Amino acid sequence: MSGKSPVLSFSDAVLELKPAETFRYSSIARELAAKGQEVISLGIGEPDFPTPEHVVDAAIKAIRDGFTRYVPSQGIPEFREEIARYVSTFTGAGDIKADETMVVPGAKQALSMVIASYIAPGDEVVLQDPSFYSYEHVIRYAGGTPVFVPLKEENDFRMFPDDVQEAVSKKTKMIILNFPHNPTGALAAKTDIEAILETAKKNKFLVVSDEVYDHYVYEGEYTSVLSDPEWRDFVVCINSLSKTYSMTGWRLGYIVASEDAINRLGLYAANIFSCTTSFVQKAGAAALSGPQGFFKDVLSEYRRRKDFLYHELNKIDGVKATNPKGAFYVFPNIKAILTEQKLSTGEFAMQLLRKTGVVVLPGSAFPHEAGRGYLRISFTLPIKKIAKGLERLREQS
Ligand code: PLP
Repeated sequence: MSGKSPVLSFSDAVLELKPAETFRYSSIARELAAKGQEVISLGIGEPDFPTPEHVVDAAIKAIRDGFTRYVPSQGIPEFREEIARYVSTFTGAGDIKADETMVVPGAKQALSMVIASYIAPGDEVVLQDPSFYSYEHVIRYAGGTPVFVPLKEENDFRMFPDDVQEAVSKKTKMIILNFPHNPTGALAAKTDIEAILETAKKNKFLVVSDEVYDHYVYEGEYTSVLSDPEWRDFVVCINSLSKTYSMTGWRLGYIVASEDAINRLGLYAANIFSCTTSFVQKAGAAALSGPQGFFKDVLSEYRRRKDFLYHELNKIDGVKATNPKGAFYVFPNIKAILTEQKLSTGEFAMQLLRKTGVVVLPGSAFPHEAGRGYLRISFTLPIKKIAKGLERLREQS
């Protein structure tokens, strides 16, 4: 898709948008499945357990009760109260108020709102390299320029505050942090977060923290940017119920920020999408206020899968995997295989899909450069399926 329509031209911003690789690979996988091939999807970042039943029941009840009309742009008070209570406890922040929260249709929507609300043409945004693909596209859409800080395998993909400092210029308006990290599974040390926040304060830029994997932590501790009230004026925290409550298709997320920021973002919401689906918010309130015990079982199952995948990958010639501390991806280095087979990362992943029906994502799908030579493999399938996928990967390596 390039060039302008001869009749009506799209904006340059729209013409610059690239297809999301996750969705491209999934769509090819669907075509293969329709032709009868057995597909093993280790590609998309989507939990495989069902949405908890009491959450589903709350949505159905809300629909039956007629809770199907427009609701306030920033979210229904009942859910905002729940978010404030939940985030205060879970992150250790202790004192978040409902007025400092806002409901949105998913973390992706939150990111684009926040970027559109703060970034003007010419502004720079510091990003991890590799990073969740959507950040770069939305920043460019707003006219901003991403400035990448490479995360290195030899450092367990840690983001060093000194590297952030080096990436900062007079044009820096924002940094986007994502820990636990997609695609590497890295976690940040509290001291690193503190140092990055100090740099933000000193240089007056905003820290946007995407914490959608906050519950998926296998080793070490996750630090939310909300944990210290001193930082509040410099941070916007984005989260969603997609990964923790297996609610990817419900489109439900939230933002925590200063009341002033929430009021501005509320204006954006009122003008662009009115509100987040009314009855879905009732389900969200049920999720946050209901029993949380089920997640212990989810996490222990995910840990089992991670350990299996990590150990088995390292048994394959030419593959070197780092043990992820969080999220649900392993990000193995396959550079030796690529050199031997004279393939790019994308060519290898596409060949694997077409020949064997196994979906993994090429690290090169995660901007900017540092992901080349790596694959992102999700462990959101039962071990038996992961083992089958690995067998096919082994045959191709
Ligand atoms: N942020 C990161 C880092 C992700 O990996 C994803 C999904 O893969 C999202 C945001 C999107 O979350 P949501 O479903 O809430 O839009």
